[in-house]
Amino acid sequence: MQWSNAKNFSHHIVSIRFNVKITMKAKVLLILFIILFTAGIGVSQQKYAIVIHGGAGVMSRQSMSAERMEEYRAKLEEALMKGETLLKNGASATDAVVETIRILEDSPLFNAGKGAVFTSSGTNELDASIMNGSDLNAGAVARVTNIKNPIMAARLVMDNSEHVFLSSEGASEFARKEGLEIVKNKYFFTPARYESLKQLQKKERNRNQADNTGTVGCVALDIHGNLCAGTSTGGMTNKKYGRIGDSPVIGAGNYADNRTCAVSCTGHGEYFIRLAVAKDISAMMEYKNMNVGDASREAIKKLSTMGGTGGVIALDTQGNVVMEFNTSGMYRGYIKSSGEKEIAIFANE
Ligand code: ASP
Repeated sequence: MQWSNAKNFSHHIVSIRFNVKITMKAKVLLILFIILFTAGIGVSQQKYAIVIHGGAGVMSRQSMSAERMEEYRAKLEEALMKGETLLKNGASATDAVVETIRILEDSPLFNAGKGAVFTSSGTNELDASIMNGSDLNAGAVARVTNIKNPIMAARLVMDNSEHVFLSSEGASEFARKEGLEIVKNKYFFTPARYESLKQLQKKERNRNQADNTGTVGCVALDIHGNLCAGTSTGGMTNKKYGRIGDSPVIGAGNYADNRTCAVSCTGHGEYFIRLAVAKDISAMMEYKNMNVGDASREAIKKLSTMGGTGGVIALDTQGNVVMEFNTSGMYRGYIKSSGEKEIAIFANE
C-alpha cells in the first residue's frame, strides 16, 4: 500500500515534472513563434504608398502628340517605380521622395532641374523644399542657379544645417561644401522653355498656365509609418525681381506631418502662398477632423474662389491618396503596397 502510494506519488512527481518541462518548452516556442510571426507581419504587411505630380496646367489631348504623352507617362512611371522599389525595401519616405524627384529633375520634360523655365533676364532660378512628417524637420532652397538637383540641396539643409531656408549664392555655397554636383546655369537650358520666354516677352500671346507647367512633387509613406513631402520647380516663366513661388515655402507649396498628411502643390504660386495651401490641408485635418480627401478638395475650392489655378497631391498615414486640381490636367500618378496604381495626365481620365 505504502509502496503503491510511494510509486503513485513518485509517478505523480515525474508526471508533474514532465508536464512542466513541456509547458516551458511550449512557452519558449510560442514566444519565439509570436516574435517571428509579428516581425514577419511587420515587414511584409506594413503599408507604403507614393504619389507624384509633374505639374498642373492647361493641357488637352488635341494639343499633345501621342509620342509626347507616352514620354510623360514613361517618365512618371520610371520615377514612381524608383520610389516604390526603395519603399518596398524599407527605405525612409525621405529617401524615396528625394530619389523620385531627382529622376524628374533630370528630365527636360519638367519645369524642375533640367528643363526649368526662364526668368525675364534669360536665366534659370530654381526652388525646392522637403519636409518630414515624423519630426516636422524641413529644408528649402530658393533662387539657386547652379545646383544640379535642388531637391538634394533642400534635403541637406534639413539634415545638416541649423537653418530651414537658404537662398541664392548662400545656398550654392552650402551645396558646394556638402559635395553636391554644381553645374553651369546653361545646363538648365532647353529650347522649348526658351521659346516660351521669347514669345511671352514679345507679347505674341498672353501668359497661360502651360508656360510654367512641370513643377514636380512627391509625397511618400514608408513602411515605418512616416510621411515626407518634396517639391521642386523652376517657378514661372518671365519671373522678375527675384520672385520666389510657393514651392520652397514650407506650409504654402509643401508640408508634412505624421498626425495629418503630406502635401505637395503645383500651380500659380502667389495664390498658394496667400492661402498657405499645404498647411491649410493639414490644419483642416487637425482642427476640423476632416479626412485628407475632403480637406484637399476644400483647399482647391478656396483656391478656385480666389481665382487661382493648380493642384495638390496628398497622402495620409493610412495610405489614402489624393490628386486634386482645378486645371484641365495634372501629370500625376501613384503606387500603393496593395498593388493599386495609376498614371494620368488629363482631368477626365
Ligand atoms: N508653383 C510654382 C510657382 O509658382 C509653379 C507651378 O507649380 O506651376 O513657382
